[in-house]
Amino acid sequence: MKEENQHIGKVILAGAGPGDPELLTVKALRYLQKADVVITDRLVSDVILQEYVRKDALIIPVGKQCSKGASTPQSDINDLLVEHANRGKLVVRLKGGDASIFSNILDELRTLAAHGIPYEIIPGVTAALGAAAYAGIPLTARGYSTAVRFLTYYKKEALHESYWKDLAQTDDTLVFYMSSDPLDQLVEKLLQYGIGADKWLAVIEQATTPLQNVYNCPIHDYLPAARGSHYTSPTLIIIGKVAALQVPFQWMASSGSKENYFAPVAPKAADNTLKRYVYADSAEA
Ligand code: SAH
Repeated sequence: MKEENQHIGKVILAGAGPGDPELLTVKALRYLQKADVVITDRLVSDVILQEYVRKDALIIPVGKQCSKGASTPQSDINDLLVEHANRGKLVVRLKGGDASIFSNILDELRTLAAHGIPYEIIPGVTAALGAAAYAGIPLTARGYSTAVRFLTYYKKEALHESYWKDLAQTDDTLVFYMSSDPLDQLVEKLLQYGIGADKWLAVIEQATTPLQNVYNCPIHDYLPAARGSHYTSPTLIIIGKVAALQVPFQWMASSGSKENYFAPVAPKAADNTLKRYVYADSAEA
């Protein structure tokens, strides 16, 4: 038993930042330069994979894109972590933004713990922070908001009336991840529960990338002006008084482009993931 454990590798669960490759932490960069295997999400800049990863490392994309019905099952991702770590490899599990925020890290932690595989967690710049900074929105500007909430309306569960009321009435800045598809309903709900006319809504597409676009208006003006809009993935929504500050403080022009910075997940790619990627030095190659 003991001898087997000597060959156990290690898994680094790292955030890659929201898009701009320079938002990667130095620590994540150092591990990427050493890693034998990089298991990566879709929302990770190609530049990071092309330029910062060892040329002979194995890169395994395990993207999920639920809106396109394409995804690598979480159990496959768990299996990959175990398989490569048990071969004694240094594995970086690279996730968009921060490693923990709205991610499946808990499944992966449970798997690693259950198999006795050592791991580290390296934080990353989450999309809320990247998008806010690159749009020029100070999330908790003094006099505007004293707190910020990271939320999602993705599951469209029947949320309790008191929850909506609280969201509509609070002065906290609201940041919604994975919520651009049901944005019209989200705005309707907040209006229904009396959100103030001084609240603005900023939609930030492909934040921190050269293709970033920001759309911004008072929340009461959104539906007449933009109902039914489609946004390029990934999109983040910031609601609150602070969103109005984007107008005087934006420092990066919108690209005006609808092109994808992150390649969409190929619908069938997931099926082949496990079989297609084998080590160059392995007998299975
Ligand atoms: N762990 C990630 C979030 C994963 S959930 C993080 O910490 O950022 C995926 C959602 O994050 C997307 O649907 C979108 O709402 C948001 N997101 C991620 N990258 C983004 C980007 N570059 N621009 C805008 N939103 C982004």
